[in-house]
Amino acid sequence: MPRADRGPAGASFSRVTNSEEFERTPGGAVIMDGKRLRDEIVAGIRTKLDGLGNPAVCLATVLVGDDKPSQIYVRNKHKKVEEAAMVSRHVGLPADVSQGELEAAVTDLAQDPNVHGILVQLPLPEGLDAERVLDLLPPEKDVDGLTERSMGRLVRGRDGHVPCTPLGVMRLMERYGVETSGKSAVVIGRSTLVGLPQVLLLGRKGVDATATLAHSRTTDLAAVCREADIIVAAAGMAGLVTAEFVKPGAAVLDVGISRTADGIQGDVHFESVQAVAGAITPMPGGTGPMTIGCLMENTLSAARMLGALPG
Ligand code: NAD
Repeated sequence: MPRADRGPAGASFSRVTNSEEFERTPGGAVIMDGKRLRDEIVAGIRTKLDGLGNPAVCLATVLVGDDKPSQIYVRNKHKKVEEAAMVSRHVGLPADVSQGELEAAVTDLAQDPNVHGILVQLPLPEGLDAERVLDLLPPEKDVDGLTERSMGRLVRGRDGHVPCTPLGVMRLMERYGVETSGKSAVVIGRSTLVGLPQVLLLGRKGVDATATLAHSRTTDLAAVCREADIIVAAAGMAGLVTAEFVKPGAAVLDVGISRTADGIQGDVHFESVQAVAGAITPMPGGTGPMTIGCLMENTLSAARMLGALPG
């Protein structure tokens, strides 16, 4: 059955369904390729900076301790910074660093005019107060969008940095033509890192989805999701979203990452869902790369906000 015929009348994806440009799963869902879009964003930044005479836009990362996955995340961010023709600085601190020493290091970066974006890799080792550290970031340099002031700006609809993962989800939907205006969306998970800002972004003027925030106490999650044109899964529960959660033709974006005995898995049971969905993110290669792409985007806008870009 052609994909265009699968969705309910008037639902989701006229642009996706009519386009032959995008790769599809065996079941016919458009693959929302986060690696491809991240690479487009990185290349776009490189071209932009080249046109501006290559000003030194700098992202500083702060990593406390020697957690392996965190080291990999930070290394990947530095690689993309380089590809985007920006520069990076890294501050690595031992796991037994004191709160005061950590705060002094972050304050130095906050005050350094040559640093435009600051990313403190979370979680911090036990005993360190992340909130107090994040409070030291000026909103312009808070490229992760996690401070109270950045969150407040998001709620108030003012300019500021938006957390990279939910922003990446929005970029993927834009790029792959997922219609949002008047559509219903369900976000699974209510963290301040992902779920909460995601709901705010989906409900923003101009995006205009009707967004529901589902969580671990939601009654009959499958039934709630089945009503949705868009599902964003950010629960951290491997394989939670199966075909029975998905309205035919819906867009399904998988944020969850679980390390299981079978390797890294998302919240979405890809095999079953791809046969029903109109569009789906792969895992890996979906929202993860986009988190980094949006970090690059936020770093460029940090430099702009700080007046570090010519013109
Ligand atoms: P979190 O643990 O802070 O929040 C998880 C949320 O999911 C909670 O609000 C909880 O109520 C909800 N939840 C848990 N089990 C549920 C269930 N069975 N049904 C419905 N809701 C349920 O996690 P987080 O920081 O928001 O991250 C969520 C997931 O996204 C994690 O797996 C994390 O590793 C991943 N993540 C991925 C990226 C990325 O770039 N793709 C970025 C950040 C986080």
